[in-house]
Amino acid sequence: MTPAGSLLVARDLRKSYGPTPALDGASFSIHPGEVVAVMGPSGSGKSTLLHCLAGIVTPDSGSITYGGRELSTMSDGRRSALRRTEFGFVFQFGQLVPELTCTENVALPMRLNGVKRKEAEEHALRFMAQLEVDDLGAKRPGEISGGQGQRVAVARALASNPKVLFADEPTGALDSLNGERVMQLLSDAARSSNTAVVLVTHEARVAAYSDREIVVRDGKSRDLEYAG
Ligand code: ADP
Repeated sequence: MTPAGSLLVARDLRKSYGPTPALDGASFSIHPGEVVAVMGPSGSGKSTLLHCLAGIVTPDSGSITYGGRELSTMSDGRRSALRRTEFGFVFQFGQLVPELTCTENVALPMRLNGVKRKEAEEHALRFMAQLEVDDLGAKRPGEISGGQGQRVAVARALASNPKVLFADEPTGALDSLNGERVMQLLSDAARSSNTAVVLVTHEARVAAYSDREIVVRDGKSRDLEYAG
């Protein structure tokens, strides 16, 4: 049974790379607007779980539904459209385009979806203001700090108004002060736009910004809410 009101639900996911099981029966669910931290030691399967949930990696078995629709039965085109329109991504290194200014980076996904430059950049600046990086709009990624770059990357992910933001160790390359600042702004911005966040981290101080934690160990996760 799908837990009431869940947006994204995974049941009993299994995935092996050769003889190595990366996921060995993981279950997960998230509600709209909720921030969930996926925790566990290195190599336990956190990134594989996130990539399966985001439709980037196909599990060997198990089911993943988004808004009640099974991901595995969607065409590749439909799945990438879902990723483009409903999901946002932030990784350990912001992966900003070095040749573009920060504003152009945040506006880029909207521009690719056909939004006019002026409108896209105005919208971008509103999200950059929420992440307190609007004064860096004219700078290029090489001219700003790692923490500022991650905040620009969060603004870019949120500006397309995703229903789910996937963040894989988003503060992993930052010192603790900058890491906490990024997490505070990320969680505030996500909550104010009712975006659910799946946050992969191995750090308790990062997980402290979540509403709920699930722990992955040896490819197994037990989502207490889901199990209940
Ligand atoms: P975590 O994110 O918790 O560090 P991962 O999901 O990255 O864990 O990895 C889980 C296990 O799967 C590890 O043993 C890892 O070596 C293996 N693994 C992950 N991705 C691949 C891959 N593309 N090819 C081979 N093995 C992989």
